[in-house]
Amino acid sequence: MTADFRHFYQKSWAERTAIVAENAHLSSTEAALFKKYYLPQHHEIIENYLTDYPLPMGVAVNFVIDEQPRIVPMVTEEPSVIAAASNGAKIIKRAGGFKTALNQREMIGQIVLEHLQDPEQTADLIKAHAPGLLKVADEAHPSLKKRGGGARQLRVRQLGQGYLSIDLFVDVQAAMGANMLNTMLEAVAKSIGVLTKTNALMSILSNFATASLVTATCELPVSLLQAGRYAGDLVAQKIASASTVAQIDPYRAATHNKGIMNGIDAVAIATGNDWRAIESGAHAYAAKDGQYRGMSTWTTDGRILSGTLTMPLPVGVVGGSIKINELAQLNQRLLGITTAGDLAKTMAAVGLAQNLAALRALVTTGIQQGHMHLQLKSLALAAGATPSELPIILQRLEQAPQQDLATTQQLIATYRQ
Ligand code: NDP
Repeated sequence: MTADFRHFYQKSWAERTAIVAENAHLSSTEAALFKKYYLPQHHEIIENYLTDYPLPMGVAVNFVIDEQPRIVPMVTEEPSVIAAASNGAKIIKRAGGFKTALNQREMIGQIVLEHLQDPEQTADLIKAHAPGLLKVADEAHPSLKKRGGGARQLRVRQLGQGYLSIDLFVDVQAAMGANMLNTMLEAVAKSIGVLTKTNALMSILSNFATASLVTATCELPVSLLQAGRYAGDLVAQKIASASTVAQIDPYRAATHNKGIMNGIDAVAIATGNDWRAIESGAHAYAAKDGQYRGMSTWTTDGRILSGTLTMPLPVGVVGGSIKINELAQLNQRLLGITTAGDLAKTMAAVGLAQNLAALRALVTTGIQQGHMHLQLKSLALAAGATPSELPIILQRLEQAPQQDLATTQQLIATYRQ
């Protein structure tokens, strides 16, 4: 019999888990996992809640950002992310650490109008009423203005084909601001509707957060980059070449940026931030001139390697689920930050550290040497090795001709004989 999912959202937790267990033919041991990770307060966060899904949390060390030492909490399931970030930060720390800059922290939302006979005339009409519309925006979320934030600017863009985008720039203070902005946008859209006698197609925040750009930089004497038999100046030159390739080839750029986001996403999750918003903004920014490019650049004059990462980081230290997430709050304490700007600066530095470590490994020994040790650990655990068996199984696995699940299971079986 197929389980009945009608009115599923109205069922109790016990009924819901029973229906899912029946539908998926779970054993009682499998179904017990729902209970194992269950947190009653999480019913309030998502719909159809069953259980929590634990991810490992650790800290990256060695970060010195604008002369301030920082411990960086990260939540990730990928081995080597924390090791690489700590490693990159260690090299940069020896050269004085990261410098960061953040000139503006505003979120942009858009109201889109369609089927306009004369978009230019509509644009002029809206521009002429901009001060009043900014007031409408502020009145829709008055507490923001009281905190020193609020609506800052209205920009009108003709998108072509009869479409117009009215972009509202808002200083969202300590929050990421999506919900606050959406509330403001819907109020402004109503006023624009009256003004232009058209109904807006939609009103929503844009994740292309070009008014929340953050830059992290570092300058390293090339001698710090020496890796095994590779001299520092050669490593610097190869890192600069890798950076050039990420600028001209989207295949490489995607992986270059994935490495940067490894660390940034891990901090975003650890601090209760919306990593999908950060991801979409980052990749949109990487393609801002029409070609998808690496977000960071590295150059060298033979003596110094200079690295720069500029990207949108629309993050918050309040709002969303942060207030009900004890670990997100704890992680703000570990970071020692209280403002969204400082969190964004830290995340940019993490991205640059991660990128340096990845590029240095890639252009010298290759990424697998560092990765594999950690990957082998995951493999051994997946094959059933107990923590006490791990050291010896890892040792044998490193020498094995093949490093796959079957080989690992065989090694464990032999060891247990
Ligand atoms: P909230 O809706 O939680 O709003 C921020 C809250 O923080 C408000 O309740 C505000 O209080 C409070 N607050 C307290 N102190 C401050 C301060 N100093 N500065 C600013 N706010 C303060 O969250 P956001 O508006 O930040 O929206 C983020 C959420 O929206 C995330 O969960 C995200 O996933 C989601 N989202 C994302 C979208 C996207 O990216 N496209 C779209 C829609 C939602 P008060 O009310 O008193 O001002």
